[in-house]
Amino acid sequence: MNIQKQVLLKDYATFKIGGPADYFVEVGSVEEVAEAVAWAKEHGQKIFALGGGSNLLVSDLGFRGLVIKLGLKRLDFDGQKVVVGAGVFLAYLLNQALDSELTGLEFLAGIPGTVGGAVRGNAGTYGLAMDSVIRQVNYLDENFNLQSMVTSQAEFSYRHSIFKTKPYIILEVELELKSGDVSGARTLVAERLKYRKDTQPNEPSAGCIFKNIRFEDVNIDDLKARGIEIDKFTQHRKIPAAYIIEKTGLKGYAIGDAQVSEKHSNYIINKGQAKSDEVVMLISYIKQQVRDKYGLQLQEEVQLLV
Ligand SMILES: Cc1cc2nc3c(=O)[nH]c(=O)nc-3n(C[C@H](O)[C@H](O)[C@H](O)COP(=O)(O)OP(=O)(O)OC[C@H]3O[C@@H](n4cnc5c(N)ncnc54)[C@H](O)[C@@H]3O)c2cc1C
Repeated sequence: MNIQKQVLLKDYATFKIGGPADYFVEVGSVEEVAEAVAWAKEHGQKIFALGGGSNLLVSDLGFRGLVIKLGLKRLDFDGQKVVVGAGVFLAYLLNQALDSELTGLEFLAGIPGTVGGAVRGNAGTYGLAMDSVIRQVNYLDENFNLQSMVTSQAEFSYRHSIFKTKPYIILEVELELKSGDVSGARTLVAERLKYRKDTQPNEPSAGCIFKNIRFEDVNIDDLKARGIEIDKFTQHRKIPAAYIIEKTGLKGYAIGDAQVSEKHSNYIINKGQAKSDEVVMLISYIKQQVRDKYGLQLQEEVQLLV
């Protein structure tokens, strides 16, 4: 195990923002994860589990503790059952599944990041998310004991799971896929990737900053009265945060090098040298403006390591 000191986290985050971690280690096996957490315990260091860094805003001050980059790459197919390590990239998993004639992961097309991060945030698109394919999650609990839970215990909901409220480290996940129309699935994936390319910014970002707004969480009549075109969004019963931010007039608004993307208003892009504080200020400005104009409280989808 190679524990490094003072490793710049901006090099491990798609936002390209973030100062140094005091300690940093990349682990490639469950045994190495156990070794790394034992080291942190022995040296009184906090730990942070890092996947692909695609849902993260890291402070310019960095992280006081040990960042454990999960490089767990196990990927075993057994009929429709798949066991996948937390460090496997979603794009690789999707392609390998299709090569094995299995469907059900098309909703992952274009989502960067790893399986561990995707389980924690129940990542997804088009109304489907990780909970639609997960059967079991193997993890280390707060006492670093190996545990597993089935899907119904993981408290999955929109961009949420139990892993957001407990300091567990996800190690491996068991998925159940389908033997469906693979050629149709490939076409769908290609279409979705093209759509993303056309509609999402190329600059460094952490994807969508805010969660979309669920109908059940808001007063629909009040929003209609304020000019929100609710009828456009009845299919998924969510109002896109991008729509609200654009309607608030914030498309393109910038603080320093942090800017609300002109291409997709729920993305904040790093135009070059954006500081974590600038992004934090921009996030709170957007929240305040949206609250003032529409009485809506936006909630962050991005994870802050600040
Ligand atoms: C261009 C772009 C497009 C995106 N599009 C989408 C989209 O369509 N849908 C969507 O849902 N998301 C999207 N995202 C966000 C992001 O890709 C997903 O949330 C992804 O699942 C994050 O995975 P990660 O491995 O990068 O996690 P990281 O960013 O590394 O970590 C995110 C959080 O998960 C925790 N974590 C990571 N691995 C583990 C583990 N093994 N055990 C415990 N905790 C862990 C981290 O501690 C952190 O709190 C997008 C991001 C970008 C940059």
